[in-house]
Amino acid sequence: MTNKKQIELLLSDLTSISDLEIYQKISDLKRFSKDFFEYSPILINELKDCLAEIVVRPLSVDAIIFVAQICNKYSTPLTLRGSGTGNYGQCVPLNGGVVMVMSGLKKIRNFDSKSGEITVESGCLLRDINDELIKHGRQLRLLPSTWRSASIGGFIAGGSGGIGSVRWGFLRDPGHLQSLEIITTEASPRKLELNANNSEALNHAYGTNGIITALKLTTAPYVNWHQIVVDCADWNQAVDLLAKFNCAALDLYLGTLLEKEIVNCLPDWSGKPSGKHRILLLVSPDGVSTIARLAKSAEADFDDLGPENLRAGTGLRELSWNHTTLHMRGIDPSWTYLQMLLPQPEYEIMRKLKSEWGSDLLWHLECVRQNGVQRLASLPLVKWRGEKAMNHLMSQCKELGAVIFNPHTITVEDGGLGVIDSDQVQAKSNFDPKGILNPGKLKGWNLKED
Ligand SMILES: Cc1cc2nc3c(=O)[nH]c(=O)nc-3n(C[C@H](O)[C@H](O)[C@H](O)COP(=O)(O)OP(=O)(O)OC[C@H]3O[C@@H](n4cnc5c(N)ncnc54)[C@H](O)[C@@H]3O)c2cc1C
Repeated sequence: MTNKKQIELLLSDLTSISDLEIYQKISDLKRFSKDFFEYSPILINELKDCLAEIVVRPLSVDAIIFVAQICNKYSTPLTLRGSGTGNYGQCVPLNGGVVMVMSGLKKIRNFDSKSGEITVESGCLLRDINDELIKHGRQLRLLPSTWRSASIGGFIAGGSGGIGSVRWGFLRDPGHLQSLEIITTEASPRKLELNANNSEALNHAYGTNGIITALKLTTAPYVNWHQIVVDCADWNQAVDLLAKFNCAALDLYLGTLLEKEIVNCLPDWSGKPSGKHRILLLVSPDGVSTIARLAKSAEADFDDLGPENLRAGTGLRELSWNHTTLHMRGIDPSWTYLQMLLPQPEYEIMRKLKSEWGSDLLWHLECVRQNGVQRLASLPLVKWRGEKAMNHLMSQCKELGAVIFNPHTITVEDGGLGVIDSDQVQAKSNFDPKGILNPGKLKGWNLKED
């Protein structure tokens, strides 16, 4: 915590900055100190009392430079926030200080019609970027299911993948992020242009090693995705069929499989009630007949819901990834979840855990491309039985060969592969030498400081 006197001095310096909104009401401090960490009962305990002392919202890059300089002067923690839709408290200020909301930086700076690359400011919403791209016959390659409200800066710094991962893998795969414009938090902050290579250390670093002000991204040709629902009575048959779709010569944007107990709880725009396990697909128009043929040969039910309506917010994409968890928690908040890459073959882990957990664990699978290979990931719904049971479940998953991405932890490393990335730590030394950016979230830096 910064002391009261320091906060007063800091505030008086901040008020001299033009292009800067300042929020001090307790209701605003609370609102901007939270994200969706409530999905994890473990994180609720750790994060519920964390509170910013001041919230600022810059409207220009120059204002950001001044905020960085002032926070450096008083050694005040500075935590960045996009739209605050993260699940692991990524933008929650662990040590108080200033929360800087990046939503005022929302210009689309350039679209390169030759390469399809787009350069945008970090507070742009993914929805707005996608709308712009559609005008040029392009679209975003990867989207979180929160794409309507999430910012691109928050997605790159705090997200991992989602819709599009079936074709385009994950955000940290080389080829998505082409360059960054960042502001450092040194005594005299610098504005730097980082090439694709140097940008890697800031990709998925929770805003701990640089303030992203603009990004250049690759994009994909626009496709008018069709929404298809395929229902199967038998779970193993549904998994086989999903794997077939995943590996066929189909242009897919989404491939999700949900156990029937989940389907029963989804909103009515998810397709006709069937009492069966359900596959949700976004496929290009030329793939619809192949899906129908493969479904028929597996004696599964096929339903074409037609092209997506991106305006409505009631598409199959809003039932996928962590939106499945959102809908289930809307009915019963004692549901929480896990994230993992399933081992192959997938049946053994699913059968084993089901036999132990019964209806307290419901399978939700997503088609992904991992290191260039088509695989199945899972975000199973898990009934909360306490921290010990959750830790035991994660250990079991690892023993059975799954790679866990733990959603019940606050550090970059523990939420990923558990490994310290020395490039991320080096970037923090270079760009945030006092360690004021989002303190406590980069384990490699915490260990260095101890
Ligand atoms: C229902 C639900 C579904 C979700 N589905 C997905 C999904 O499919 N895939 C997925 O990856 N995630 C998913 N998420 C998590 C989250 O919505 C996304 O990762 C989203 O892109 C985060 O964007 P945001 O603007 O809300 O970022 P925030 O939550 O505000 O911030 C995320 C991180 O980025 C940092 N940050 C923000 N702006 C900047 C900046 N300008 N410079 C540097 N650092 C910055 C913050 O400090 C924080 O560490 C889901 C969450 C929910 C609640």
